[in-house]
Amino acid sequence: MSASLAAPLVTASYIGATILFIMSLGGLSHPESSRRGNLYGMIGMAIAVLATIFGPSVTAAGIPWIIGAMAVGGSIGFYAARTVQMTQMPELVALMHSLVGLAAMLVGFTSYIDPAASTGFSGTEKIIHEVEIYIGIFIGAITFSGSIIAFGKLSGKIGGKPLLLPARHWINLLGLLVVLWFGREFLRAESIDAGMTPLMVMTAVALLFGIHMVMAIGGADMPVVVSMLNSYSGWAAAATGFMLSNDLLIVIGALVGSSGAILSYIMCRAMNRHFVSVIAGGFGTSGGTVAAAGSQPAGEVVPISATETAELLRDAKNVIIVPGYGMAVAQAQHTVFEITRHLREKGINVRFGIHPVAGRMPGHMNVLLAEAKVPYDIVMEMDEINGDFPGTDVTMVIGANDIVNPAAQDDPSSPIAGMPVLEVWKSRISIVMKRSMASGYAGVDNPLFYKDNNRMLFGDAKKMLDEVLMALKV
Ligand code: NDP
Repeated sequence: MSASLAAPLVTASYIGATILFIMSLGGLSHPESSRRGNLYGMIGMAIAVLATIFGPSVTAAGIPWIIGAMAVGGSIGFYAARTVQMTQMPELVALMHSLVGLAAMLVGFTSYIDPAASTGFSGTEKIIHEVEIYIGIFIGAITFSGSIIAFGKLSGKIGGKPLLLPARHWINLLGLLVVLWFGREFLRAESIDAGMTPLMVMTAVALLFGIHMVMAIGGADMPVVVSMLNSYSGWAAAATGFMLSNDLLIVIGALVGSSGAILSYIMCRAMNRHFVSVIAGGFGTSGGTVAAAGSQPAGEVVPISATETAELLRDAKNVIIVPGYGMAVAQAQHTVFEITRHLREKGINVRFGIHPVAGRMPGHMNVLLAEAKVPYDIVMEMDEINGDFPGTDVTMVIGANDIVNPAAQDDPSSPIAGMPVLEVWKSRISIVMKRSMASGYAGVDNPLFYKDNNRMLFGDAKKMLDEVLMALKV
């Protein structure tokens, strides 16, 4: 028995949802319109889910199952969203991507063994359907295993060092040939049983390929992987849409896939990397040498107190604040805003310099600063502000490390060589706030700390900034 909504109404709802998703992407491109963008996305998704559940492809008997599954999944999602710390967001996103990949794999296998689907196609249609299944499972498996490894790397459960197998490019090439060969066998198979073996072999190879791809990527290049897996999850969803003949899923998957690909390109440009080289792996290393994790600090540093920091800030005309991952860990953004407001009231020009890969996910710092209500017009991109450091009196680096490392420019053997960085050492004085001399995500020492015009304010960023604020107010 078919459920109630007629096909034309479902099509109209799908078109409405698609428009809302496009408007959502448009809204998300700027902090000021991002709340609206989110709202469009939520309404679009609600329409899409309702139209699908009550559309002609779902029987009335299936509805309670779907609602039950949604209640379980929705509760887990609700709980995760409420309890997850802001610093764990990147891992959560990676985990979510893995679920899209897993769904594409499961839908692929189900579509293949579903008797209704397999007897419903013949000739060219059957070949097209089977190609969709093969490609869908392939992309799904890579997304699934790659995202699990990315989750491990982002949460620190797996080390950030790239795994460089000897002849890794040949291994990848061999894997690709195996996938192509078994693809041919799959299409030639006379029965579902016969087709299952090549499908399983390809799935195993794709899973290993996903693991190898992300394991081979060095710490500092993880941002590209995160956005790339985001893109893959979109293509996996689009492949699912083809398998289920669901136009909306195809369109949405393509939107996510292509916007993720554009983001990956932007991240690559921000890090001065070639997209293909990052995918091929081994980046985050130089000439095959792996960065020594937590490499030993070299040189003397000059510590500074919170009171001295406040004095320097009070005497300054131009101040730039460079936030990094440590600001997210310390949840110091609100105090940062208080300090900014205080200094601006005293007529001091305060601006923020945001590196495209600061933190652990694209836009991480912008989200935190927006949450603390820092005005958007003083938040500058790296390219906009990098030329202004020479005329700056004080630069406060709050829990940032790799993104302000001069070795990226000066040391061709550094694992982050070539990555554009915020040139904070060109300001009259720079103050780095962090708890210790530990290295950042890329695991390399930072020569900035030892420069004559640099001071180190050791301690938790929130605690130290509270002290700076107190000293400013007396
Ligand atoms: P880094 O990881 O380079 O440095 C963060 C610094 O913050 C650490 O050196 C740490 O030093 C300090 N810190 C940690 N907790 C605190 C705290 N509570 N108070 C004060 N300081 C603290 O971060 P950056 O933002 O500079 O650079 C981002 C890095 O992450 C890049 O290598 C980037 O490639 C990578 N990455 C970025 C992603 C993205 O999409 N943006 C995704 C994945 C990786 P200490 O322990 O001494 O306090």
